[in-house]
Amino acid sequence: MPRKPTLRWMAVAAAAFSVVAVGSSSATVSAAPTRPSPGTAACATAPDLARVRAGSTAKEPELYSTNEANAYGVIKDAPRMPNGSVHIPTVFHVVSDHTLSTTEKARWERLIAAQMTVLNDSYSGRTAPDAANSPFRFSLTRIDYTVNARWYTVTPGKTERDMKKALYTGNSETLNVYSANIGGGLLGWSYFPKGYNNGRDFIDGVVMLDESMPGGTAGKYAQGDTLTHEVGHWLMLEHTFKGGCSASGDFVADTPREAVPQFDCPTGADTCTAPGADPIHNFMDYTQDSCMDMFTRGQVERMNDAWVAFRRIPTS
Ligand SMILES: [Zn+2]
Repeated sequence: MPRKPTLRWMAVAAAAFSVVAVGSSSATVSAAPTRPSPGTAACATAPDLARVRAGSTAKEPELYSTNEANAYGVIKDAPRMPNGSVHIPTVFHVVSDHTLSTTEKARWERLIAAQMTVLNDSYSGRTAPDAANSPFRFSLTRIDYTVNARWYTVTPGKTERDMKKALYTGNSETLNVYSANIGGGLLGWSYFPKGYNNGRDFIDGVVMLDESMPGGTAGKYAQGDTLTHEVGHWLMLEHTFKGGCSASGDFVADTPREAVPQFDCPTGADTCTAPGADPIHNFMDYTQDSCMDMFTRGQVERMNDAWVAFRRIPTS
């Protein structure tokens, strides 16, 4: 199917989407410009499954239906909120397979505190000279502990739903983080903002590998950027390699196109003929933590607009 020529910005009416389904290879489809109403998507609770550990045998499990991609390719433009003006209450649900000792709890509390610093630095533009600042800041409001051997190795699906039904708290503005020894060779996964959950709002939030927090044991993925990346999805960002070299790409104009996810830190990689080297330093690629250190201004605008459209609760 031929791709339609499109503008590369979020307010584009029609776009080509790359759809990757579990157990199948990549396919590109042309999506109609209409926006389906929430709940009409075929895979209404499909997560945007995120970072896969390099060298893992796990297949990229990202799953979109055409309707979902279409629904969220277009986000209404909103005024830019001031930097640091949106305070997001953040709840950590720590899941373990045994009752944690005082020492173990103290360690998680240290790691979580370091994680919150990384998250706020990343969304404040403090991680690189060319990193964009954003409206978003995160405040730790609660840590709770749950002992459940099944949830401890959670993967997407029924176990995840059981866990979240029991532990989810807050509303569309609350960031629920589930920290566990997740399975599937994944570092984490998360969901795009409200709109398609339709009565299953408990599914919202981020699930991540506990040892990916700063000071954890996940090696090159233990500097806390997994949560930064997942929260990017939670705020509606796509991967920078979304759409490959297509014009629509990740629906953000200032992220250079990229044909494939990049791992490690391949300096100079340039997989598309369009201008710009692959954005290997972007938080929304798959590179290792020491390599990723920035969001672009365009990505911040997309998150800004998605917050207004899908997460912000009207105050009047
Ligand atoms: Zn991701």
